[in-house]
Amino acid sequence: MTGASRGIGRAIARAFAEKGDRVAVHYASNQEDAERTFGGLPGSGHGLVRGDLSDPEVAQRIAEEAEDLVGGVDVLVNNAAFAPSPASAHPVAEVSYADWQRLWRRMVDVNVLGTANVTYCVARHMIDRGVPGRVVNIGSRGAFKGEPEFPAYGASKAALHSFGQSLAVALAPHGIAVTSVAPGFTATDRVAIKLEGESGEALRGQSPFGRVGTPEEVAAAVLYLASAEAAWASGAILDLNGASHLR
Ligand code: NDP
Repeated sequence: MTGASRGIGRAIARAFAEKGDRVAVHYASNQEDAERTFGGLPGSGHGLVRGDLSDPEVAQRIAEEAEDLVGGVDVLVNNAAFAPSPASAHPVAEVSYADWQRLWRRMVDVNVLGTANVTYCVARHMIDRGVPGRVVNIGSRGAFKGEPEFPAYGASKAALHSFGQSLAVALAPHGIAVTSVAPGFTATDRVAIKLEGESGEALRGQSPFGRVGTPEEVAAAVLYLASAEAAWASGAILDLNGASHLR
């Protein structure tokens, strides 16, 4: 479970632990939050794995450690991402060329290459062990509608959706199912500021439910896609946005 220290990742880790699974809680550097996630998980046999996914050797080490910690990874949830913050905005008309380069590189290195590398390593273990594994990618609605303030982020999520579809076909003969979810705005600490004032009104107004999504709602969808019953969903990209895209 990559990026499980906080937010959506924490909710997903908790959902798996509540159903009795052992969870390898991965994080990049935020040890305090990672330990809070880890310490709050019900059950036993969970592990903590630290590492920056943008380094290919670290991504490989993360996969190996996770295998050892939980005795074989049957479900990989690719949740970690260099996700938008005011400091990482890069609208083309405003950002310097140097920052444009830096932010694109980081988004691609973490969100695309990092995810691809850890997935490669875990999938090879699944194939070797002959388990009907599951890979669930946390994509984004931004991959479909564009992210004018964060174009590299939107593109990285579109790449993730496409990667998931390629893998779904390539891994089906091994009994491994690969899916993605595409959440709309989801209330995590990282984006809490956006829920205040007028921007909060606008975000809630996107859905006919008049609210934004919760990490627990993303976790519930991931739990289904990771289940034995979801093999036939392989290749799917599941919209999770309270029908916002239909307005
Ligand atoms: P957070 O920013 O709260 O959490 C991001 C997680 O990714 C953390 O665990 C973080 O670890 C980890 N991470 C960040 N950089 C790296 C890196 N270089 N290497 C390894 N791990 C890293 O995000 P959210 O919970 O808000 O979002 C989770 C996922 O859902 C992301 O993929 C995001 O793109 C996606 N999403 C979120 C939406 C939202 O509105 N919240 C909407 C649509 C999609 P650490 O804590 O150690 O930094």
